[in-house]
Amino acid sequence: MELLRQKVMNEGIVLGPGVLKVDSFLNHQMDPFLMREVGHEFTRRFAGEAVTKVLTIESSGIAPGIMTALALEVPLIFARKQKSLTLTEDIYVEKVYSFTKKETNEITVARKFIAPGERVLIIDDFLANGEAAFGLARIVEQAGGSVAGIGIVIEKAFQPGGRLLKEAGYRVESLVRIASLENGIVTFAED
Ligand code: 5GP
Repeated sequence: MELLRQKVMNEGIVLGPGVLKVDSFLNHQMDPFLMREVGHEFTRRFAGEAVTKVLTIESSGIAPGIMTALALEVPLIFARKQKSLTLTEDIYVEKVYSFTKKETNEITVARKFIAPGERVLIIDDFLANGEAAFGLARIVEQAGGSVAGIGIVIEKAFQPGGRLLKEAGYRVESLVRIASLENGIVTFAED
């Protein structure tokens, strides 16, 4: 996606090691026009997948998630991140290790929002090791739903998440793929 690629090139800041900061259009300030295009692009790519809900994780997945859900005309659910939980009867819980924060969070989704048979499209802002996407997929499957696909705004292809998710049988669509952030320079992977 050319517009996104330009944004990453012009505004992305490489924070060592292997972390890209995009807080001018995705992670803090958000660009609604870009997010609208992101929503349309995911909708185009997953058009044949009979998606019934979009699932993401707070907070940076919500903007691309809601724009995709709007374009697909389905609801968006965002998983919450919580440190420790006591009451877990009405929720699905999965542990997810955060690559950027170096800590494990429990992510939760209320059981009532995913019905058996649901076709759920998972959306996230970044893909690194695949922890977040795998955690969300496990929740969908616990609920008796199926993963319609995984849509990623920025995949860091030098980390193993994309490969691991594909090996596990998921369809992964990334709008831009980064081959390297070495020496502070963003190099894109040519697909
Ligand atoms: P994973 O779970 O695939 O290891 O990492 C993806 C999650 O970590 C995303 O939800 C994203 O919030 C965060 N993340 C991973 N790498 C980066 C990065 O380079 N920049 C930013 N801003 N977030 C990242």
